[in-house]
Amino acid sequence: MAHIITRFAPSPTGYLHIGGLRTALFNYLYARANGGKFLLRIEDTDLARNSADAAKAIIEAFDWVGLEYDGEVIYQSQRFPLYKQYIQQLLDNKKAYYCYMSKEELDALRAEQEANKQTPRYDNRYRDFNGTPPTDRQPVVRIKAPLEGEICFKDGVKGEMRIQAKEIDDFIIARSDGTPTYNFVVAIDDALMGVTDVIRGDDHLSNTPKQIIIYNALGFKIPQFFHVPMILNPQGRKLSKRDGAMGVMDYKTMGYMPEAMLNFLVRLGWSYGDKEIFSLQEMLEFFSPFALNSSPSAYNEDKFLWLNAHYIKQKDNATLEQLLSAFDVPRLNPKTRDILYPALKERCNTLTGFAQGFKEVMNPPICYDEKMRSKLDSNTISTLDALFSATPSIIWEQTQEMESYLHTYATDNDIKIGKLMPTLRCALLGKSGGIGVCEALVILGQEESLQRIATFLKKQKDS
Ligand code: GLU
Repeated sequence: MAHIITRFAPSPTGYLHIGGLRTALFNYLYARANGGKFLLRIEDTDLARNSADAAKAIIEAFDWVGLEYDGEVIYQSQRFPLYKQYIQQLLDNKKAYYCYMSKEELDALRAEQEANKQTPRYDNRYRDFNGTPPTDRQPVVRIKAPLEGEICFKDGVKGEMRIQAKEIDDFIIARSDGTPTYNFVVAIDDALMGVTDVIRGDDHLSNTPKQIIIYNALGFKIPQFFHVPMILNPQGRKLSKRDGAMGVMDYKTMGYMPEAMLNFLVRLGWSYGDKEIFSLQEMLEFFSPFALNSSPSAYNEDKFLWLNAHYIKQKDNATLEQLLSAFDVPRLNPKTRDILYPALKERCNTLTGFAQGFKEVMNPPICYDEKMRSKLDSNTISTLDALFSATPSIIWEQTQEMESYLHTYATDNDIKIGKLMPTLRCALLGKSGGIGVCEALVILGQEESLQRIATFLKKQKDS
């Protein structure tokens, strides 16, 4: 296969959202899997709408998920002299020309075409102009688009595309202040960066024929295009903030794992049999942009959480502890950690949920679930005082030892284990749910457990 060069070309006008990151991932995978290059170009020519923060956030998001780009980041705002040079070349070769139409003239033309039920389009009046140009205005530069025939390309996702030449007019490539237009700079950059494959959202499909006209005018090789359908919400509408159109880094704050993010995104619009879990290595092995789905994909929060839970479970405790420091989870001694973490891993699907679960165990309850407390059996409560009075220290070391101790104690004292456990749970954790009672006892240790039981018994007495 020829050397593959792909790129991701975001406009830094808002934060990088998941649709953008998905496009980046597809480009990344295709390049990396083929030993090619993946380039990053920031399309910041719209100086009024740009934000340096957004450009920074894109790079930060890449760092978080571990997408590495090759070489330096290219900023379009730094390439104006280069674009000027190519505009001049097209003018010199008579492939582009100055157009002096004023706004009033353009408005009049449009009004006339609309009155005649025609699609508004430029009427080529300066295309072969030889006269003396008006001196009271700055011209724009227009490209000579083909007058007849078709512009054809084979999209890797959409298939054969054919656009009638008459549907595209001599569009502007440089404004009257000399600045180049969007389609022009995209085509120039892709060509100069040697981009062989362009994978992007299908909202850019209608730009492609214009870009092809520019490629042809300059004799550049046309890349392979892949236009990927949008990600829709479960109701089939455009993603809104509520269903995931947030900045990628917001997911980090919400406790998502980068591995889950990439795995979730790769499956939006692409599949490989019914496989759901993909390591980066597997993505590299199996992904092909030619297998992208031509219909839109649906954002599914439950699936994202399911994947996140999977990747949380996969992390070893020490790594997880490191990740959790960003969520204000203090370190534990490894012995306690290695009992608590597996218990929480089973129950959490985000790191924020994990941190919450951690606090629910490690901080003494500030109140007790009243519904739960009201159902407890007073006979069982009255045994709590004596329950741990003369216990072998081993039960505080191992969950299983604790479990068999409690069972034996219940049998010997004629208490139902089904009553003892909720009573202990209420005393230790204050509420139903959460990690197992025996795990909680061992994690908290003798002193803290007895302290919590005493506090609970005092509350019982006082109420
Ligand atoms: N800058 C464009 C965007 O953010 C992408 C251009 C392209 O991929 O060709 O939508």
